[in-house]
Amino acid sequence: MNSIMNKFSLEGKSAIVTGANTGLGQGISVALAAAGAHVFGVARRSCEETAQKVEALDGKFTEVMADMSKLESIETILTEVKKQTQRIDILVNNAGIIKRCDAIDVPVEDWDSVIDINLRMVYFLSQAVAKDWMADGKGGKIINICSMLSFQGGIRVPAYTASKSAVMGITRALANEWAKHGINVNGIAPGYMATNNTAQLRQDAERSEDILARIPAARWGTPEDVQGAAIFLASAAADYVNGYTVAVDGGWLAR
Ligand code: NAP
Repeated sequence: MNSIMNKFSLEGKSAIVTGANTGLGQGISVALAAAGAHVFGVARRSCEETAQKVEALDGKFTEVMADMSKLESIETILTEVKKQTQRIDILVNNAGIIKRCDAIDVPVEDWDSVIDINLRMVYFLSQAVAKDWMADGKGGKIINICSMLSFQGGIRVPAYTASKSAVMGITRALANEWAKHGINVNGIAPGYMATNNTAQLRQDAERSEDILARIPAARWGTPEDVQGAAIFLASAAADYVNGYTVAVDGGWLAR
């Protein structure tokens, strides 16, 4: 392989991917493993399907059970992962939830649960991992999964919009402070992807048709669609990319 393609290799790296049992987290886990990384997939239920997909590619995948709504899980995750690898090189903050409700009726519990998982956990897990990276001086890669609602307001998902807009904000804020330590913090903003996250939306015939009509690529995205961006941002090929959020959206934001 020539040297530029070598830069995309994740051989010998270890990656944590949160929410690895399904959807985009599964697609990203498979991609990072295919590029050579040992993937530690964090989930609150079995990652059996992801493990099988990774094993089919002769990749390495280890499941770590944790509830991403509780900050105490950070210690559990890092302790488990460090038992099996000398160093974490990549963190993908993917786990997230969405609650659909008219803004006027959003209950406090729903607001808090969305912010806790989508924002609070992303921040403090990144902070914990970055502390190790600053201590050993070897740097690392953080990829935060953002959204079209990091850029736009959305409809009937105000807590989700607040969380994802903030995640793109902290992607820039952390990059500004940590780039000098060799830590690349970047984001991927998926467009409208066919996963559990959008199941309700896709069942609503009118909303589904409206969304599809606005996507230049004329189709919903898939977990495979985010794989290339994930490998790039996790790799040495992205060493000089800091604080940027790449849209993988079939052209949605270009409209
Ligand atoms: P998904 O299929 O609903 O996946 C979400 C993942 O997060 C699942 O693995 C889920 O586990 C996990 N998770 C949620 N709460 C958790 C908790 N308390 N503890 C542990 N894991 C938890 O949807 P997805 O589309 O793949 O979403 C992945 C990320 O992409 C999310 O951050 C989402 O906001 C973002 N995103 C999605 C779209 C889209 O169109 N689909 C667009 C933009 C951004 P369970 O399976 O156990 O619930």
